Amino acid sequence: MPQCILNIALDTPLNACFDYRWPCADGARPQVGQLALVPFGRREVVGLIVGVADTSTVPADKLKDALAVRGQLAPLSPQWLALAGFAADYYQRPLGEVALPGLPKNLRVLTTVALDRAIKKLAKDASVHDGTPLDMPRLNEAQQRAADAIGGARGFAPTLLYGVTGSGKTEVYLQACAQVLAREADGQILILVPEINLTPQLEGNIRARFPGVMLATLHSSLSEGERMLHWLAAHEGKARIVLGTRLAILASLPHLQLIVIDEEHDPSYKQQEGLRYSARDLAVWRAWQLGIPIVLGSATPSLESWHHAQSGRYRKLELRERAVKNAVLPRVKLLDMERDRPKDGLTSHLVAALKLRMERGEQSLLFLNRRGYSPVICCESCGWISNCTRCTSFMVLHKPEHRLRCHHCSLELRIPRHCPTCGNVDLQPLGRGTQRVEEGLQQLFPEARILRIDADSTRRKGSAQAAFDSVHRGEVDILIGTQMVAKGHDFKKLTLVGILNPDTALFSQDYRASERLFAQLMQVAGRAGRAAQSEGGSVSEVLIQTRYARHPLYDAVVNHDYDHFAGALLEERAQAALPPYLFQALLRAEAPELATAIAFLQAAQACLAHPAITINDPIPMSMTRVHNVDRAQLLVESASRPALQAFLKEWLAALRDMKSRVKWSLEVDPLDI
Ligand code: ADP
Ligand code: ZN
Ligand code: ZN
Repeated sequence: MPQCILNIALDTPLNACFDYRWPCADGARPQVGQLALVPFGRREVVGLIVGVADTSTVPADKLKDALAVRGQLAPLSPQWLALAGFAADYYQRPLGEVALPGLPKNLRVLTTVALDRAIKKLAKDASVHDGTPLDMPRLNEAQQRAADAIGGARGFAPTLLYGVTGSGKTEVYLQACAQVLAREADGQILILVPEINLTPQLEGNIRARFPGVMLATLHSSLSEGERMLHWLAAHEGKARIVLGTRLAILASLPHLQLIVIDEEHDPSYKQQEGLRYSARDLAVWRAWQLGIPIVLGSATPSLESWHHAQSGRYRKLELRERAVKNAVLPRVKLLDMERDRPKDGLTSHLVAALKLRMERGEQSLLFLNRRGYSPVICCESCGWISNCTRCTSFMVLHKPEHRLRCHHCSLELRIPRHCPTCGNVDLQPLGRGTQRVEEGLQQLFPEARILRIDADSTRRKGSAQAAFDSVHRGEVDILIGTQMVAKGHDFKKLTLVGILNPDTALFSQDYRASERLFAQLMQVAGRAGRAAQSEGGSVSEVLIQTRYARHPLYDAVVNHDYDHFAGALLEERAQAALPPYLFQALLRAEAPELATAIAFLQAAQACLAHPAITINDPIPMSMTRVHNVDRAQLLVESASRPALQAFLKEWLAALRDMKSRVKWSLEVDPLDI
């Protein structure tokens, strides 16, 4: 029987692919890019064929037979394999660990028969929307210029669409998409959005605009069955628009012609566990590889993208005005909490502004990026505070549930009746989270319809969407929420945004904190005044309660001055030699004892040197202990990306050879350090 050797990537941390034997009757060989079922240890697993050969260097008696090849699935394209290969190489992970988790689970576990049935169902998939297309609104001049530039671009053309909040970036994407769909007979478009709670609005919009065009969505709240159908629709080229969150960047799209990254600055494009990739960065590589246009849109671009736009590597298109006629950017004011002392967390000025909106039937939004009732409870007589016993953090008071919760290890306790140290029964909440602000508002405005939106209030599937819908329908007077409410939403009746407690981020050790705070404030401020100002209606306002009213960051927010602020930050970064002028990787280690983790990092620090690389000393992570594990980190830096990449490859091999029992991981281009 003629046979061949399949080289197969498997989802294991072992940095290698594996050879298997496969009988090739009548000369028909499996193809690279197909999936195969193979024995691995005591299990049977699905792997990806990355090579087909006549011989193997593995001795014949050690070679095992592959069990099946998934013939009915078209092979993944060489371009897709190259994308997975690039990601594996760049983020220093085995190919199998990158390529296989990117595929729907069902493809990997289902038997051949079940897979067939899935594929048949797809043929009948009803995700094509019938009807006449909804009219495209007339674009304003700046929008039209942007849509034409994006839709008409050929070859690798990265564009930064820098448009103020409410400038109608979505409309630009959609009309650029329309141009591409009309021009490229079976062209596909990938649209990435940061978070799934923003997608339904956009999804509905796309369906209404492009009837007859199949849309597939890819995000983590799909069921496995749905995910597989949508993934296959993209893989087979049937879905012409794929809308998804960061994981969709690894979708198989054989006819990809355009990539859109909405809110490109958003940290959720960065995967924060396992393969810590940046979907935005991979998207730019993918567009380069395929020689297609990509557009990165934001009102507050990341400094990385802004830097590329300034240096001419990306083309910059600007939308300086709001798209809706007579809608203008809100007036931003700072409320000095030293002069106007807050009661129940609210200054008298903010209370008066809320009252005015209530009287006029307009909506208000209060933004506080801290959920729970209070971040800690304490005993005033002996000084006890509610520390988590497993983490370097506090137990947060959740009053409606009568619980203390650690947001890092999920430890839950009943609220103690008395102080565990001295027995005092009068334990006090310290500080303020969204639940406490909600409680204060209810007392202040008993007649108001108040809605809180945060991770706690939206635990049930679909409840976030229901909550946003009720805001859109005007059933809410005052909305209070965390960063969940800050992004993307087009709330038409909102004319007041109050921002509580943003000061802490001003003094963070993290050098990215001010970039992030600025973006967050601009985004949440951007929720106000999105409709035309009605006659007799309020001027839309953003009120920021602060103790540091003179801080230059707030000055930039007041003036809606991203350009200037970004320029100043970039200058600081250049002077301090920080990204984007420097490239970094972070080695993390964790162990039950901090000393063990540090010792491992010290060994790692000593094991390899390179003149173009700086290896800093190991330090405990700022939140050192989580769930009874101590964590430390070591930062590696270089002014040259290729030098860093080359160093990391060699270094990781050396680290693996150390065979330490300490759990460690490497992150390239870390966001949080
Ligand atoms: P952004 O994403 O830039 O914050 P959106 O795309 O959400 O802004 O658009 C803001 C609002 O402006 C939406 O309600 C949208 O329907 C509206 N809009 C966009 N373009 C136009 C246009 N050309 N004419 C009228 N309204 C528009
Ligand atoms: Zn006490
Ligand atoms: Zn904890």
